[in-house]
Amino acid sequence: MTVGPSVEQWAAAVAAVRSTGLDDEIQLICHVNPDGDALGSMLGFGLGLRRLGFTRVRATFPGDFAVPTPYQRLPGIDLLVPEADAFAGPRLVLVFDVASESRLGALAGRLAAAPAGVVLDHHASNTGFGGVQLVDPQAAATSVVADGLLSRLGVPLDQEIAECFYVALATDTGSFKFDMTTVSVHELAARLIATGLRPGEISRRIFDSKPFGAMKLTGEVLGRAVLEPAAAGGQGMVWTYATLADLERHAQPPYVLDTLIDPVRSVAEADVSVVVKQTAPGEWSVSLRSKGAVDVSGVAVSQGGGGHRLAAGFTGYGEPGDVVDTVRRLLDEYLN
Ligand code: 5GP
Ligand code: MN
Repeated sequence: MTVGPSVEQWAAAVAAVRSTGLDDEIQLICHVNPDGDALGSMLGFGLGLRRLGFTRVRATFPGDFAVPTPYQRLPGIDLLVPEADAFAGPRLVLVFDVASESRLGALAGRLAAAPAGVVLDHHASNTGFGGVQLVDPQAAATSVVADGLLSRLGVPLDQEIAECFYVALATDTGSFKFDMTTVSVHELAARLIATGLRPGEISRRIFDSKPFGAMKLTGEVLGRAVLEPAAAGGQGMVWTYATLADLERHAQPPYVLDTLIDPVRSVAEADVSVVVKQTAPGEWSVSLRSKGAVDVSGVAVSQGGGGHRLAAGFTGYGEPGDVVDTVRRLLDEYLN
């Protein structure tokens, strides 16, 4: 049975923040290719630190400094700096939505070297790296954990913090649709909305706004999807892939493919859905989803990735067909 942070772990996290001077350097880090939960939980918490009077707070993530357009107007976005501008030797490092050190890239050393570190996460596959562990696999999003720490630090929610946490919560619950959408998720959503934010406007801006070229690209990539009814022990698998050439042809940035898995996983004939997205020659970011028959995080972890029971990912190599062959074989092993 998985449990959330202990009383001692919460107290240690509060102490790590409280023992930091208001002019000490604090570095916040989220995972590579950040999504709404990574950015929302990190920026919302960063704003909370500002409210406490901390003057030197920066937020970053490893790799290309490409912030998906919908997130560029998140409150607290001015805290965000490219990896190269992160503090070299911060007093305190807080890490958001990161299941394993590899997702921190070259910034992993920053956490390891810091006098104090706190890991806020909700992945069951979290490897237990870093300093104080605030890892709650029952939490629907990392922002649930970030809210828990801010409230223990005595920071009241305001509308800016709430917008960040709302985007994070809505992202990781598929706009309050997934299995993790519990009473406590709606209670947090209610507290966030009560600050005055407008869910309709936020949803349109963050989730329902795409360039025309992204729609055309999506159409093409969905058009080449393959259904394999016999795969996944007869529960069915559907898969497709997108290349860098596809992105280029439609003049689109990679992030427009982040939600491509959603229409694919809606296929009724398949329990498992797979989207294979090229990130470099011979390198692919693989998204896995299950409707319940398979723990896809097991498949992802066996390939050096991670995630949740019904949503996981890893980096694959070779041709898209090779990557899908690997997934098909692992699913068969898992189900036999
Ligand atoms: P997505 O398919 O939306 O990119 O990711 C689904 C879930 O799997 C997320 O919880 C994400 O953190 C996790 N995930 C995706 N790719 C990787 C990866 O390469 N490594 C790890 N550790 N987790 C991943
Ligand atoms: Mn998350």
